[in-house]
Amino acid sequence: MPKSGLIALMLAAAVVAVPLAQKPAPAKGAPKPSPAAVKLDALKQEAVADVEGQSQFSQQMVDQIFSYGELGFQEVETNRYLIDILKKNGFAVQEGIAGIPTAFMATWGSGKPIIALGSDIDCIPQASQKPGVAWHDPIIEGAPGHGEGHNSGQAVNITAAIAVKKIMEREHLSGTIRIWPGTAEELVGTKAYYIRAGLFKDVDIALFTHVGNDLGVSWGAGSGTGLVSVQYSFVGETAHAAGNPWRGRSALDAVELMDIGWNFRREHLRLSQRSHNVIVDGGDQPNVVPRTASVWYYFRETDFPHIKEMWETGDTIAKAAAMMAGVELQPTKVLGSAWPGHFNKVVAETTWANIQKVGLPKWSDEDQQLAKALQKELKNPRQEGLPTQLRDGLQGPAQNNTGGGSDDIGDISWNVPTVTLRYPSNIPGLPGHNWANAISMATPIAHKGVTAGAKVQAMTILDLLSRPELVEQAWTYFRDVQTKDTKYEPLLRAQDQPAIWLNKGIMDKYRPEMKKYYYDPSRYKTYLDQLGIKYPTVRASSTQ
Ligand SMILES: [Zn+2]
Repeated sequence: MPKSGLIALMLAAAVVAVPLAQKPAPAKGAPKPSPAAVKLDALKQEAVADVEGQSQFSQQMVDQIFSYGELGFQEVETNRYLIDILKKNGFAVQEGIAGIPTAFMATWGSGKPIIALGSDIDCIPQASQKPGVAWHDPIIEGAPGHGEGHNSGQAVNITAAIAVKKIMEREHLSGTIRIWPGTAEELVGTKAYYIRAGLFKDVDIALFTHVGNDLGVSWGAGSGTGLVSVQYSFVGETAHAAGNPWRGRSALDAVELMDIGWNFRREHLRLSQRSHNVIVDGGDQPNVVPRTASVWYYFRETDFPHIKEMWETGDTIAKAAAMMAGVELQPTKVLGSAWPGHFNKVVAETTWANIQKVGLPKWSDEDQQLAKALQKELKNPRQEGLPTQLRDGLQGPAQNNTGGGSDDIGDISWNVPTVTLRYPSNIPGLPGHNWANAISMATPIAHKGVTAGAKVQAMTILDLLSRPELVEQAWTYFRDVQTKDTKYEPLLRAQDQPAIWLNKGIMDKYRPEMKKYYYDPSRYKTYLDQLGIKYPTVRASSTQ
């Protein structure tokens, strides 16, 4: 090729390349970004690249915790695994915090600000499920499993923290990173105890993260509820149920009468309430009048005074039921509690700016195929697959809170400026607390969602470390808006203690069998590989 021709070609290429490579010139009159802003932006880009480079490490954490499938207060393997990773990465770890054996506080760095990164770790009863298979197919029938996706949030935080830590060391940035687990979140069992133990007293900002099916964040009072979880136990007297029934007093009668009383009262409760119960002790066998019986209630409402009011109504009905049955009501046990959450406007806006920069992961055809097949399996009216554009946006306070679920992050949010980052590791349109919610949670959908979440989390931590005014503004919102008229009071009573005995029996029953399926990353690249599952596995009728 003659030299002139080559130059012409290079010129043509340059013309094409320029608009792609060059950043658009700032609009006339727009202030030039300060050197500090330019530097922060470069550090964020570096953290994002680092998180991307750690994707295999994140995937292993997601798959490992998925395979442990541990219920609340019994997260023994998960706890040991996370503590080990954190120690290897230079964190000092305080174990067994707040009297909870499966909880810890890991700390790295020094000085202000103190940023606490949290995410839940426990799973759901009877949600055992093979990942990547688009129908109900348990790994072990009846066993617990990650039917909420709590196997993924620690990977978001730890990956982000490791990326930021490298930058902090090199740049000599002041700041302390704490990492902690939402132990027994499905029982709303621990975070109020963390507050009571003073573990968040010196924390500047709490960044919480929870699995979702979009990248999102909100501020203000959300659309959920808070709750108190109470166990009512009754004691009567046994007798031969046929020979001398008049000699006995049935504790189960009191449980049933309480349930009937509550269900009549339900008609006259506010629309925003949610209440439900399970009978944890219903007697031993029909021919022995039950001496003991217990019923466990969740009382949910959208604010503290209404939760207290429902609880008082429950107590009254329990006492009345005991009187009718001629049995004794034992002192009640609080097994968990949660304030309705309120999230910080300044931190949410900071997070949202980073979400927009990161955007949703690129889903493969296989990812979309799994999502659509599951939506079809569940007979959802729409099989929309996975979102390809951010949908939720930055959500403000709920205008008309008609109730919903609870998370004990609420207690932390009333003590420290807090937000919850939702990251896209699950499939839209699922029932929640169900085997279906476990299907994506050890597949590329979960892995990509975690990496996207970790990028956002790393960028937000860098914002908070580099711009002290953000921390100040967050506290101004917390003091002058959020807590202006509402002050935190614990739902827990002085005598209440973490219900660390819960779920022990179920885990003792299933753990020996579950151990055979623990993920071994030294032998298998992914958990799907270890289980020998083709990705995705969908019904023949689901393939196009
Ligand atoms: Zn959850």
